[in-house]
Amino acid sequence: MNPMNAVESIVSVLKQRGFDYEASEGDTLLFRGHLLCQGQPHAVALAVDVSGLTLPEFQLLNIPRQLKPIAPHIGQDGFLCYAARGSIVLDIFDMPAQVLACIDRAESVYAEVLAGKRAKDLEDEFFAYWGTSICLADIDPYLSTPVEAIFYQNAKAKSKAEPLLVISNVPKQTKIKLECLGMIPVPNRVARVCRVKTNQAPMPMQDKWPPKSVEEVLRWQSYLGDGNCRRKLESHLINALNADLNGAFCLIESPLISYGFAVSFNRNGGKPNSIYNRLAVRELIYQSQLQTFSIVRIDDVYLAQRNNPMNRNLHGLNITLIGCGTIGGYLAELMVKAGVGTSTGRLTLVDNDSLMPQNVGRHRLGFNHILQNKAEALAEELTRSSPSLNARPLPVDALQAYLGKEDLIIDATGEEALGHALAHKYQGPDFKPILKVWIEGPGIAVRSLLTPVPDSACARCLNDDQRTVLYPSTQEAIPLELLGQGCESLYVPFPATVSVQAACLAMEHLSDWAMEQPSPRLRTKILNNHFTIATPDIDPLKRSTCPACAMVV
Ligand SMILES: [Zn+2]
Repeated sequence: MNPMNAVESIVSVLKQRGFDYEASEGDTLLFRGHLLCQGQPHAVALAVDVSGLTLPEFQLLNIPRQLKPIAPHIGQDGFLCYAARGSIVLDIFDMPAQVLACIDRAESVYAEVLAGKRAKDLEDEFFAYWGTSICLADIDPYLSTPVEAIFYQNAKAKSKAEPLLVISNVPKQTKIKLECLGMIPVPNRVARVCRVKTNQAPMPMQDKWPPKSVEEVLRWQSYLGDGNCRRKLESHLINALNADLNGAFCLIESPLISYGFAVSFNRNGGKPNSIYNRLAVRELIYQSQLQTFSIVRIDDVYLAQRNNPMNRNLHGLNITLIGCGTIGGYLAELMVKAGVGTSTGRLTLVDNDSLMPQNVGRHRLGFNHILQNKAEALAEELTRSSPSLNARPLPVDALQAYLGKEDLIIDATGEEALGHALAHKYQGPDFKPILKVWIEGPGIAVRSLLTPVPDSACARCLNDDQRTVLYPSTQEAIPLELLGQGCESLYVPFPATVSVQAACLAMEHLSDWAMEQPSPRLRTKILNNHFTIATPDIDPLKRSTCPACAMVV
């Protein structure tokens, strides 16, 4: 259908449905008509994007009184939300029929809204009705340190922007984060935070919204059905008033979302130190005005888990990454994105090598770090984009490194002999779980082996006593390919894409381990399709005669 015909067809089909064409703006056709809900017509303006890339928009021309001040699915200016963005994909080659289907859907949604059947949906749309002010929240859920409210301003003194409200239970880390956004704390401007938990999901009240005073907000909490939350809020505010504060920030944490409001006490010119009687205190608090805030989480736990709830156990762990080369660099970055080294956890980076110009082509680090120690440079690079990261670089030999109490060691050196030595060192009473990741030949395959408990196979257990390979990765022989000259500078050629895939394999194995699903403990991914996999992912057996892990007492 050519564009001209498409426009004519849409206009004609809509005409039959009772919508009159009014005008066009670019690719958008504007109509007037009615949604029919249980026989009643409701006047709407309809905008149709002929390209089909955005959904037709319906705007109610008269919003019925019972849907004011708020109603589910009715946006500002009367726009009707009848489908979430992305939930419908229009067939752009059949727009007339698609527009009719959208009218059907809009009519059915609006009929339910009018019948009060969609009130529960207000829960999901809560923030759209709560506050337009933003409060950043950097609250580590694993810590029970007190939450305080701090105002931040642009470090450039001339900026006239309103100070930004930030609540945090890790103020030092928060300061580092905000500083990297060019913000500094406003001196002497800290507010008390009253933190209250509730099991009730917030839902706007449909008769009076949003609450403007403490009295209204407390009444709303009772309406939600959590009298306890109401009482706690009230008693927190009384304490704040009695402590001579000018106000407080209330943070309400419900199962799915948190929201907040700032209260400024209206003392009516009363002396701050005068002693109020209890009734007067209540009265003063009830009449105090408030400002609602939407909470935007910036805590490391949320940032890591939002896209992958599987990462929930990686915070708070002590993990050592040995080898900050081409695999280790990318792996360290994935680990930090997943939350390693945040909260109470720590990421130790071990490498005694320096980054050379010839490494840059397949290394996470770039030219700006050459001649620097790889562990130190990587820690610096990761901390730049994750300012609250707790990274400990150790520019020492892997076997000499003093690791302390580690939950896991990751060997990303790709050096077979070192893997055996590590398995030998961390066995018996000194046992530490080890995850090893390596590349087979010139990028033929990537593999990972996890030794989570003492009775699982170590890296050396993959060979028998004669060093025959027991679990080959490919059916074909792996070619031995080396480039470079002389004894010192030989290297195996493979591109960064191979290292990235090795890092991904190890990261997935690490996530599984943290979720207590270490199996299969030996994993192989073939990257070169001229090769065939020889060993499917399995749990290899620990060998009783293994020279690395079968402890000789
Ligand atoms: Zn072994």
